[in-house]
Amino acid sequence: MAGEYRHGKIIGMTESVCPVCLRVVSAKKVVREQGIFLEKACPEHGAYTALIWEGAEESYCSWGADLQPADRIPAAKPADRGCPLDCGLCVEHERKGCCVLLEVTNRCNLRCPVCFARAGEGEGRDVPMDELTLQMDHLMSHGGPFNLQISGGEPTVRDDLPEIIRMGREKGFSFFQLNTNGIRLAEEPGYAESLKAAGLSCVFLQFDGVKDEVYTILRGRPLFREKCAAIEACKKAGLGVILVPVLTPGVNEDQVGEILDFALSGMPVVRGVHFQPVSYFGRCLEAPGNYRLTIPKILGLMEEQTGGRISAGHFTGGNATNPYCTFQANYLRREDGALMPMVHGTARAYATSEQAREFVARQWTGAETEDPGNSCCCAGEETAGGCAEEETACCCAEENEPCCCGEDTSRMQLDTSSLDEFMVKLHNNTFAISGMLFQDAWNLDLERLRRCYILETDSRYGMVPFCAYNLTGMGGRTLYR
Ligand code: SF4
Ligand code: SF4
Ligand SMILES: [Zn+2]
Repeated sequence: MAGEYRHGKIIGMTESVCPVCLRVVSAKKVVREQGIFLEKACPEHGAYTALIWEGAEESYCSWGADLQPADRIPAAKPADRGCPLDCGLCVEHERKGCCVLLEVTNRCNLRCPVCFARAGEGEGRDVPMDELTLQMDHLMSHGGPFNLQISGGEPTVRDDLPEIIRMGREKGFSFFQLNTNGIRLAEEPGYAESLKAAGLSCVFLQFDGVKDEVYTILRGRPLFREKCAAIEACKKAGLGVILVPVLTPGVNEDQVGEILDFALSGMPVVRGVHFQPVSYFGRCLEAPGNYRLTIPKILGLMEEQTGGRISAGHFTGGNATNPYCTFQANYLRREDGALMPMVHGTARAYATSEQAREFVARQWTGAETEDPGNSCCCAGEETAGGCAEEETACCCAEENEPCCCGEDTSRMQLDTSSLDEFMVKLHNNTFAISGMLFQDAWNLDLERLRRCYILETDSRYGMVPFCAYNLTGMGGRTLYR
């Protein structure tokens, strides 16, 4: 219900939790001068406010306008206690999984102050192989195969990681992403090759900036040299790399442009950048006050720090999950190195969980051949002879726009039924920028959570949306972890 509120206009109602005791409370979305805020109050622990959007009401509403109908969840659990206490997934959930995290260990070779999994605390435990087997079987019987994110802790501390990937392949999973700090990839010759040979698809590399100071603050030690060496190892092994910066106010907001430039210089091995603004869960519970890196803020930082080459207008929230969880844009690198946005292609690629799964697998997997250099996206052939036959979808995907290779594309048509083929041809010249704004106990919106498609697997519950699994109250209370 919309209306005037004492501190601003109310533009929506939802539910959230008390950041202290995690009980479910109603919440209002309120417009104030600085942006849109989530306001809520616990009868025991008082009122809380969190910034959720910097910008006007119109920009907030238009970002989330394209919401698709809910999915039916395969083999869902009953909803008994109410969201977020019935995860598994329950019948009230609105999105099938896209990507599922399989945490294989809670050991780690770092102890990052911002770790959501509190890795390295207490007794180290590797999840036994028979438990991983059951988890994978559960996923396959509940809507799988999903894209699997091998996660932790730091998964590479396990020597049997290639065996885990092989087992997943045998069970029918086809896309494996390794969430890693990159240290073992950097230090152990041949390690990247062994993962590739086992069936690893890509490396999701923790990459917070291009200066060691950033790593010292966020990870506890300088690591930029290791990051570069890890990328080089992936290049040799033919593994795609996605750089994953945890954007933290006052630490690396000023490095957004440099991170993007670094990533672009590493194409096609580097497939894209996936920004994750810091969230306050796990080991990082510091009360954040009102300041948050919101979607408009991050898009603005990209625009400012790239001199407008990356523009906020290129991005969409998509609708495979809740649009307020994500932002994404895809680019085509032209021969002259300039980036051409593929705005419509991005929106289409992310319309459902299945399409998001397929798109991520295609875009993030490493180059299968040598860097094509000057080859044209349209035909995967040298551009000297001109681009694309008729009927072939051009990289531009728009009539009347110049093609990457300078040809008039008005004669070309986008054949939407051949999206797969289209994406393969573009593979080595495409670059993806995306981000996910994880929710914590301060800004959790249960409407967003019910549309979550990033799930954690846990033998006790089945599949739990990432933000419910990692939800941590002040004082350390959790619901699932
Ligand atoms: S987050 Fe989804 S699965 Fe969990 S309780 Fe809510 S609706 Fe059910
Ligand atoms: S993990 Fe959190 S931010 Fe991402 S889609 Fe799920 S609920 Fe949204
Ligand atoms: Zn409370």
